[in-house]
Amino acid sequence: MTSHRADQMTAADMCRQLAYPYVTHERITRDNGDREVHAASHPSLLDQLEHAAGIRSALSDDDADPSSFGSKPPTHLEALRLLDRINRQSRQLETRLGIDHVPDLRARLSQIGGRLGINPDRHVRSWWATARILTHWDSPAYRPQGAPCPQCWETNSIRIRFDDELAACSECGTVWDREGGTDNGSLDLLGQHVAWCTDHEVTKPRHWLLDDQGYPTECTECLAFRDAFTEWRLTRDSEARVQRDGRIGA
Ligand SMILES: [Zn+2]
Ligand SMILES: [Zn+2]
Repeated sequence: MTSHRADQMTAADMCRQLAYPYVTHERITRDNGDREVHAASHPSLLDQLEHAAGIRSALSDDDADPSSFGSKPPTHLEALRLLDRINRQSRQLETRLGIDHVPDLRARLSQIGGRLGINPDRHVRSWWATARILTHWDSPAYRPQGAPCPQCWETNSIRIRFDDELAACSECGTVWDREGGTDNGSLDLLGQHVAWCTDHEVTKPRHWLLDDQGYPTECTECLAFRDAFTEWRLTRDSEARVQRDGRIGA
């Protein structure tokens, strides 16, 4: 049985699902109690992403449910950006692996998967996980509000799929799965981070609590985090301003 859990897949498996149609197996229980394995075929993750990005108008796979591809998915821009990232990073990776340049993206991923084999790769894991998360259009991923990504500090960039036990940041590409690993975090830790940030309203300027007498008093537990986050935001905004002014001046 082909596993499709992040912590049980090799880099080669991930590259294959990105580039080519794939089959997943799910155990289902019939009304009469019989249990059987149902095979579902899926278009390649790249095909699904291109469809989400509006580059590809129809998916040719017979098993693709037309109703789930009918309306324009909210992930349109994210899908475009992910395709761009896969293109860019896969060129760097083929160079790093000593593979002669392969112009076609699918063939390139296939070469990369063949070279990596069972060795994990941070970039491949990120492409695969983010593609998995973005291409479930029938039920969009959970987007926690008010919790900056613990890696890149962007807000509103974390996407979580509980059914897949998978999360990714659409800005920096960090991945979290059930177990966590050397190059990715665990969902439990991410969950604790999201809960803490939400409790302490870290994206708001201040966090007020009520004291015993019912008077507002500022929470001290989150002060250091809040200061660091504010500083990061100011730096980012001023860098963006310098870039913009530079462009206007050029
Ligand atoms: Zn991030
Ligand atoms: Zn607080």
